Amino acid sequence: MGFDTSGLLPLSDALQGMLEQLACCCDSEQLPLPEALGRVLASDIASPLAVPPFDNSAMDGYAVRLEDLASGTPLIMAGKAFAGQPYQGEWPGGHCVRIMTGAPVPPGTDAVVMQEETQADGDRITFLAQPEPGQNIRRAGNDIGKGACVLPAGTRLTPREMPLLASLGVASVAVRRPLKVAIFSTGDELKPVGTPLAHGDIYDSNRYGVRAMLARMGCDCLDLGIIPDDPAQLRAAFIRADAEADVLITTGGVSVGEADFTKQLLDELGEIGFWKLAIKPGKPFAFGRLPHTWFFGLPGNPVSAMVTFDQLVQPALAKLSGQRFERPLQLQAIAAEPLKKSPGRLDFQRGIMSQGPNGLEVRSTGSQDSAVFSSLSRANCYIVLERERGRVAAGETVTVEPFGGLLL
Ligand code: AMP
Ligand code: MG
Repeated sequence: MGFDTSGLLPLSDALQGMLEQLACCCDSEQLPLPEALGRVLASDIASPLAVPPFDNSAMDGYAVRLEDLASGTPLIMAGKAFAGQPYQGEWPGGHCVRIMTGAPVPPGTDAVVMQEETQADGDRITFLAQPEPGQNIRRAGNDIGKGACVLPAGTRLTPREMPLLASLGVASVAVRRPLKVAIFSTGDELKPVGTPLAHGDIYDSNRYGVRAMLARMGCDCLDLGIIPDDPAQLRAAFIRADAEADVLITTGGVSVGEADFTKQLLDELGEIGFWKLAIKPGKPFAFGRLPHTWFFGLPGNPVSAMVTFDQLVQPALAKLSGQRFERPLQLQAIAAEPLKKSPGRLDFQRGIMSQGPNGLEVRSTGSQDSAVFSSLSRANCYIVLERERGRVAAGETVTVEPFGGLLL
């Protein structure tokens, strides 16, 4: 992978380098529709039906043949068509049929005239307007043609897809099993929530962020807890993850001061690259593989861990789990205040965007230190500042990436 002269790896190169090596590793299984919520489609869904399946009325009114209206005389109602109860039998010339929304139009219908454009005197119906051919008729297959691809493989099923599939009569779908992801945090200073802190200790926050993002992605999580900076315990945790999971994600222990330790262990068990990414926050990052498991080593700083997961690990996990991944939306906004920035790295500053008098504007959440976790929770977007850009003056245009997907 090409390091540039700064020794820092651009984000796009890191992403491309990882994605080239990864392929979907989740088998498929057939599940009843309600159980498939949150799963990823293993194959395209072709519609077994035309939707709608028959020509039907878009209005409450009267089905007519245009030639019968030509004389302008009222028509006698020959019968009724309801949704689920079609008009049966002969439709004599010079007659109309009372029809309700969703009812199949009787064969030979040219148009449906809405009730409001008619006058009824018993069975004698007077038409106040001349309809266009096909007016108020929803044609069979107008929404979805039979055999058309309605959802491509890789679609994650949300509440929006469930009624669509049900409308096609799809009772079960081929979906991928969830990706199994082992996680642990490293560091002697880390304590789990619910326990007291000794001097020098901090709570392990990263694991809760990573777990939450994995849940959003529909992955199964094997949480191995906190592993102290102890070679024997780290080794045991790596070996367990390699035996039980598709992916291992750790946080901490990849920065310059600590990497040697992890590196030695990983060189022995698998193949790992330690990268210095040209992004801020989140410079140190490790990627590689154990014999059976892909490995992502996130930085320990909480904001760096979240941002590197969001920007790098998310697309990688999507590929491994067979999920289609779309790059997040980026918008242009006006900086409502100056933003600190030095050239050299692509910044993902935490911002608060809002609608100003001249369009979208954005402010900083304050300190952009990667240990200031509250900056992430107050933000609603990244302010993405190009690598070579320096300080931003108020009024300049900047790129913002609204939080969606994982961080919403
Ligand atoms: P490291 O990457 O292990 O050198 O850690 C960098 C910084 O992040 C240190 O201040 C750690 O205490 C902190 N840190 C590492 N892991 C976690 C964690 N799981 N939760 C909160 N802070 C962490
Ligand atoms: Mg550490």
